[in-house]
Amino acid sequence: MSLFLRNVHRDLPAYVPGTHEEGSAYVRLNTNESPFPPSSDVLESIARESINLNFYNDPDCTSLISALSAHVHVAPENLMVGNGSDQVLQLAFLAFADGFITLPDITYSYYDLFAALYGIKLRRIPLESDFSIDPLKYWNAGSMIVFPNPNAPTGLALTPETIQGILEHNPDQVVLIDEAYVDFGAETVIPLIDQYPNLLVVRTFSKSGSMAGIRLGYGAGSAGLIADLARIRNAVDLYGVNRLAQAAGVAACSNWTYYADNCRLIMRERARTTQELRAMGFTVLDSLGNFIFAKPSGIPASALQQALAQRGILVRHFSGPRTEEWLRISIGTAAQMSMLIDACRQILKTVV
Ligand SMILES: *Cc1c(COP(=O)(O)O)cnc(C)c1O
Repeated sequence: MSLFLRNVHRDLPAYVPGTHEEGSAYVRLNTNESPFPPSSDVLESIARESINLNFYNDPDCTSLISALSAHVHVAPENLMVGNGSDQVLQLAFLAFADGFITLPDITYSYYDLFAALYGIKLRRIPLESDFSIDPLKYWNAGSMIVFPNPNAPTGLALTPETIQGILEHNPDQVVLIDEAYVDFGAETVIPLIDQYPNLLVVRTFSKSGSMAGIRLGYGAGSAGLIADLARIRNAVDLYGVNRLAQAAGVAACSNWTYYADNCRLIMRERARTTQELRAMGFTVLDSLGNFIFAKPSGIPASALQQALAQRGILVRHFSGPRTEEWLRISIGTAAQMSMLIDACRQILKTVV
């Protein structure tokens, strides 16, 4: 660290992502990416758009907002896009979090980092012993509220009615619902934005949209919230959504069938993997994400993670008292999940 970094940033923690071994040597079930490539429409639109890279991109993302509007059935003034949903989240913290935010103790860890960066304190509400969120603990929170639905890394989701209760009991606070994983079986709260001016829904093309590498996310909310966010975005990063990302987003929204089919394949493999691991004695939560949260029996989670890595299969382990016995396993293709299941079976055989 140099002498020049401002004191306020000296304790900024580092985000620790899943390891990013490139290439086909590994089965990567540790970063919740899609195992499926982008659609041919998307690839063609990127190739077509690349000829225009000498020109600045449209800072208002007009075509993309209009394609998104048709895709999620929300008016253009209720939508803003960002350079990954991480940017939309970061802008929302910068725009709306005043002093502290309320969030679950076990959740997406990037929230901590944004809060640390902006000097926002965290009020962490412990998940219940079954890892669920008790919505009543979020009533009258006294601050902005943030959580993913379904939550990560548990995969457990709340119903829209339950979230409605949280919205009604926090009328003066922004309630940010991060729907990164909503396309894998949970129900969206986007239809509630007309009714609740304090609701901000954040979504990404990184998981169900097979485009983690292009960096594209969006927010949906009341026109007022969206105008505030766009204002902050334009001050921080006016051209943040580049030409290729805008073109790719338009193509993906215009023909979503391919992605919806892929989500169904992931859900099918999630059900099969859950069932197979339970048959081996694992405890597996009922996930609605493109991953499962699973506790092995007969072997510590960290030892299983290492044994899988030796066989070329990467899964995610989180230290910490409530998560260290568990692994988060992304759902890949049927072939990848069969490899995982076989490897678990063999590893368990060698320990008993
Ligand atoms: C993956 C993930 C994101 C980040 O999405 P990007 O659009 O790739 O920045 C946001 N929130 C949650 C809960 C995630 O799991």
